[in-house]
Amino acid sequence: MSQADDQHRDSSHAELIDVEINKQRQVIYTLWFIFMSILFGFSVLALVEGRSNWGMVLLASTVVCAVYLLHERHFNKDVPGLTIPNLTLLLLVAVLTITGAVEKTGPLFIYAIVIMGVLTNNFRGAALFGASTIGLLLLLLFVFDDMLLQVEYSQAMKTRLIYSMTVLLWVALIGSYYQDEAQEVTHRLHQRVHRLAYFDSLTGLTNRSSFRRWLQRSLERAQRDGSGLALIYIDLDNFKQVNDRFGHSMGDRVLATFGERLSDCLRPTDNSLHMVSTEDIARLAGDEFIVILQDVSEPRVAELVARRILAMFENGFLVDDLNTSVTCSIGIAFVEAGQESAETLLNNADAAMYKSKQKGKNRYEFFSEKIAAVMQERHRIEAGLQDALASNGFNLVFMPIYEANTLRIVGFETLLRCETPELQGIGPDRFIPVAETTGQIKRIDLWVLENSMAALRTLCAEQGFEGIMCVNISALELQNGEFPAQVDYVLRKYGIRPAQVELELTETSEALYDQASLSTLEELKSLGVGLSLDDFGTGYTAFNQLVKFPVDCLKIDRSFVNSLFQQDNAKGQMVEIIKNLAGLYNLRVVAEGVETRQQLAYLQQIGCNWLQGYLLSQPLSYQDFSDLLREHTPLSHHAEAASGLTRTINAWR
Ligand code: C2E
Ligand code: CA
Ligand code: CA
Repeated sequence: MSQADDQHRDSSHAELIDVEINKQRQVIYTLWFIFMSILFGFSVLALVEGRSNWGMVLLASTVVCAVYLLHERHFNKDVPGLTIPNLTLLLLVAVLTITGAVEKTGPLFIYAIVIMGVLTNNFRGAALFGASTIGLLLLLLFVFDDMLLQVEYSQAMKTRLIYSMTVLLWVALIGSYYQDEAQEVTHRLHQRVHRLAYFDSLTGLTNRSSFRRWLQRSLERAQRDGSGLALIYIDLDNFKQVNDRFGHSMGDRVLATFGERLSDCLRPTDNSLHMVSTEDIARLAGDEFIVILQDVSEPRVAELVARRILAMFENGFLVDDLNTSVTCSIGIAFVEAGQESAETLLNNADAAMYKSKQKGKNRYEFFSEKIAAVMQERHRIEAGLQDALASNGFNLVFMPIYEANTLRIVGFETLLRCETPELQGIGPDRFIPVAETTGQIKRIDLWVLENSMAALRTLCAEQGFEGIMCVNISALELQNGEFPAQVDYVLRKYGIRPAQVELELTETSEALYDQASLSTLEELKSLGVGLSLDDFGTGYTAFNQLVKFPVDCLKIDRSFVNSLFQQDNAKGQMVEIIKNLAGLYNLRVVAEGVETRQQLAYLQQIGCNWLQGYLLSQPLSYQDFSDLLREHTPLSHHAEAASGLTRTINAWR
């Protein structure tokens, strides 16, 4: 059921209750009014007759009742109980008073009855009941006594009865005052819960869950009417930087401002733009927003809307006089006659948005067949990973790392392989990014850690291996507060010296650069493990950020090594730049992807510390790597490589 439906049902329900309450209130007010008049009459009578104490009590009661009535009128919505049981009790009181019961013990029973009435009601009900009882007793004992009473009560007895009833009434009145306050609070809480359930608290836009229901309804309607529907998926670009640079409260303001401007921009003043209602605009999560365009004749309409949204960013996105570098990427999914599930449509728009981000941000993109194919592959990969996780379909291979000067094996990098049929021919460079978006990466990283440590333990125990083991982990783990503890756990479990382990983080991940990540890095560092920045040079690290980074090693990306000695050597020059930079910060440099002797010679010559590449060794199975270690005679290797090196360097010069 849609949010609008819910709201509609809620409001009509509330209206019904209101009518009901009003009717009951009318009755109750009338009763109160009669009772008060009688009370007032008696107080005047008592005062005139000179019984001033008694008169004052009655007068005060009248005033309290009047105040209560006014209060009730202004502040209260629901009704105290003038219920059938209460009326029955009142009847009993009347009978007991009139007949006096056995030997005039009636009034004694009345106490018990009234106390029962008070206990079985809430305060407000009790007050009403108490007031009615007093009114009744006054009438019977003082007005119609001659006419109705079958026994005669002493003046003292009558006074005692009325007096104690009045005390009870007061207690109930005071209680009911506090009860009202409590109800007021509950009411406000209810409203807040309602808002939280349907709306996003930051922007006031529809929230994710109610948006889903609304989309479902919209699609059903589109199907009925045979009309077109478009989804516009919006994701802010560079929002993370705003958070990091200016703090989260500024980030919140940017989101709130965008929400407002988005609503304004979609509420057209002319007829050139499609009408969009409040429910059609939602914030899905973080910096992701979405708009439904109902009753769209053709995709072009959605395009116009997307352009209009992008236009908001044309002259920079100003918030509080601050020009944030925020823009937005938009994905559009269009569907005829609601022929798509809400889930699929959302995924399609999301995928299109993702594409527009990839293509350079601050633009829009329609969902297309090509994107559909990519998505299909992602689904296949996701299923394959699921399979592999369930059936232990993963496997590790081991790539030796060599010291550049001596070509001695100083360590190895574990690399993940997946052997399930769905993932035949698909390497980690393709399946790891999928695992990162599906969240499977956490379990995968743990599997890798666990199995790498197990292998390292065997190598240490059987061969006295003392080198370094490099393990790739997703940068997403830096946002995972439990990760350092998990690393600590496996280190202990396998009795590994932390100094023998180095965790590799890919430098291209934006997630590396916020405060949470930095503190996770520090925590990892304090365990004693090494850290390295993988694929260095391709990512975002501003060189001066390196100071803050607790890393030990930079791994030069394979593409740079690959470009050495190519026609356009601009990229190749990065190798030396990175090497010098690492020297500046006292970091170890590892060059990856060494495939030719020429590259090897050059890397040795500029003083790279460690090397990896197909020239030296391909990634190996555990058995092959273990054999290689056993047979590894660095000196002969070294001699051969060194003579080759001299030749190459000479040729190169
Ligand atoms: P990476 O960490 O940069 O790993 C190096 C990749 O380059 C490996 O590919 C390796 O086989 C390949 N490589 C090394 N030397 C050469 C060479 O000389 N020539 C060529 N053509 N390739 C070379 P692989 O195993 O396919 O891994 C690709 C990427 O997948 C890795 O890049 C890493 O980012 C990720 N990855 C691999 N294993 C894991 C893992 O266990 N966990 C995580 N989170 N990511 C992993
Ligand atoms: Ca790596
Ligand atoms: Ca790399």
